[in-house]
Amino acid sequence: MENLVVMKKKSKLFICSILIGFTMVSCDFKESTKEENLVEDIVKDEFQFWTWTSANAKKSDEAYQQEFAKYKANGINDVLINTGTDAELLARITPIAKKEGLEVHAWMFTINRPGDKIANEHPEWFAVSRDGKSCYDEPPYVGYYKWLCPTRAESKAHILSLVEGLAKVEGVASVHLDYIRYSDIYLPIGLLPKYNLKQETELPEFDFCYCDVCLETFEKEHHKNPKDFENPAIDMEWKNFRLNKVKDIVDAAYEIAHKNNKILTAAVFPYPEMADHMVRQRWDKWNIDKVLPMIYHGFYNEEIDWIGYATGQGVKDLKNTNTELHTGIYIPGMSAEELEEAIVLAKENGAKGVSFFDGGALKEEHLAVIKKLKNKLTL
Ligand SMILES: [Zn+2]
Repeated sequence: MENLVVMKKKSKLFICSILIGFTMVSCDFKESTKEENLVEDIVKDEFQFWTWTSANAKKSDEAYQQEFAKYKANGINDVLINTGTDAELLARITPIAKKEGLEVHAWMFTINRPGDKIANEHPEWFAVSRDGKSCYDEPPYVGYYKWLCPTRAESKAHILSLVEGLAKVEGVASVHLDYIRYSDIYLPIGLLPKYNLKQETELPEFDFCYCDVCLETFEKEHHKNPKDFENPAIDMEWKNFRLNKVKDIVDAAYEIAHKNNKILTAAVFPYPEMADHMVRQRWDKWNIDKVLPMIYHGFYNEEIDWIGYATGQGVKDLKNTNTELHTGIYIPGMSAEELEEAIVLAKENGAKGVSFFDGGALKEEHLAVIKKLKNKLTL
């Protein structure tokens, strides 16, 4: 992350030198130092403990203060707050969290936009499956799967306007992208029985996006139409086209966040190959400051040691990038001993921190483990 700070410094100096020449290069020193310190604070190099939490406008300031004080007292320093992209609500809550000593991250649903009033006025913005069904009125799996098309200029601009709204909130450390992918072509294996599903190939009803704009754009570039493919799963250009559509949104969000002196973070699938296979998400190729892979072992019928494996895999894939990895841990159903083992495995395999899903699921015994490890791991 040092590169980021150095780059910022260089660009400031460069602008300064163009405007008034090298001799007066210190003109902007105060402002640039302040800005650099802010970014430096955000990317501080100590083992971080985060938690995701959802907000609602009805909850009182006092109740928020108590929630945040509890996190801080137990070693959690970063809170990812989902306000449903409500920048006003985020602006209300952020100072309360900051006062308790927490860094605030603006957690948002990115490409999946359930309950989005503006998007709902534009049915054509929603992703369409290979069998012709739109997420607007026939969402896959669950009612809240309202995926937008990531290719259309209008739906993309809408998503980025929401990123910008959150990035402008004073005091926020990062914009945190969630659901930054396509709808699951394969569900986590542990969830299949719940939906009474068997997924051994890419099934048409779960394969997106086959809207007119996606097909036309792809055909213009590659002179073939995915509708004609006998088996679309094995066409590499079609796969890559979709990986790049997600990347385009992330890279644009990165520019917006940094323009507003914020960093960009995201909740992603366990490790790049798995994310690519399941949801068309290749996060090791993104411009992003920190990724928080949801290494939820129970969803995949895996054991605790898999948290170490998946963490190590992602860390290796990020080796030549400026992106940090912080392991996401799913708390419900986990004992205090298992949590301790998971955090230690994440650290041993190169994670720079761990994030818990979610704040409400953290019981006294979990908090005690976090508090104990906080001091040990940040030494
Ligand atoms: Zn589309």
